[in-house]
Amino acid sequence: MLFDSLAKGLRKTIIAGNWKMNKTPSEAKELLEQIAPLVKDAECEVVACVPYVDLATAVEATKGTNIKIGAENCHWEEKGAYTGEISTGMLKEIGVEYVVIGHSERRQYFGETDETVNKRTKAALAAGLKPIVCVGELLWERECNITKEVIGRQIKLDLWDVSAEELKNVVIAYEPVWAIGTGKTATAEQAEEVCEYIRLCLKALYGFEAAQGVTIQYGGSMNDQNAKELLSKPNVDGGLIGGASLVAEKFAAIVAATASEY
Ligand code: PEP
Repeated sequence: MLFDSLAKGLRKTIIAGNWKMNKTPSEAKELLEQIAPLVKDAECEVVACVPYVDLATAVEATKGTNIKIGAENCHWEEKGAYTGEISTGMLKEIGVEYVVIGHSERRQYFGETDETVNKRTKAALAAGLKPIVCVGELLWERECNITKEVIGRQIKLDLWDVSAEELKNVVIAYEPVWAIGTGKTATAEQAEEVCEYIRLCLKALYGFEAAQGVTIQYGGSMNDQNAKELLSKPNVDGGLIGGASLVAEKFAAIVAATASEY
């Protein structure tokens, strides 16, 4: 195996919740206050990516905790006539650290393309935010046996013009579209196969050392039951969690599944 378990220990493991369009600000505060004591001894980075209107409350509610806050999207322009959009500067100013880019729901429902994913990724990096760049194949693409072509193309396009130095702040989330919110999880072997392939793509673009350092998450119906097996794979460095991140105990159990003595 090219990328082994030893190298995994050198990478940052990140468990990030993606709350999608759930929780009002007061509900967000309540959920974060439930999660905080449960994850205080986490061995991994813990992130909650929340709706825009919850961000300021979430940053405030997590002060003095080990939970970092992320947004679910950002625009690539600094300001201007982009009604409904949010800039990276706005996110930075209120203390946001991460931002999800190119989630499959944005690609599916809001016309996100690899070109706009690339623009948003570069803008996030330029502002000092850490983008969680989502890639993943549709079910029919997997059935047509073109998963690797799809993923390779997304990695190339989404990271176009991102330097090796900037890559250090990029997180990749492999999220097979057929596994998101469906209760269908990729097997640990399927997740590992594609996460390892993503690392090979990064190696081709940036070299071995840079590729070794990138955190690659799996996302798609990860929960407290299947997390341990998925996270045990050498190239699965964490998870992007939708549904299960809305229940404090379930999210905390996934965080606990990253612990070495678990
Ligand atoms: C997601 O929204 O990124 C996700 C993986 O959702 P779920 O865990 O609900 O499948």
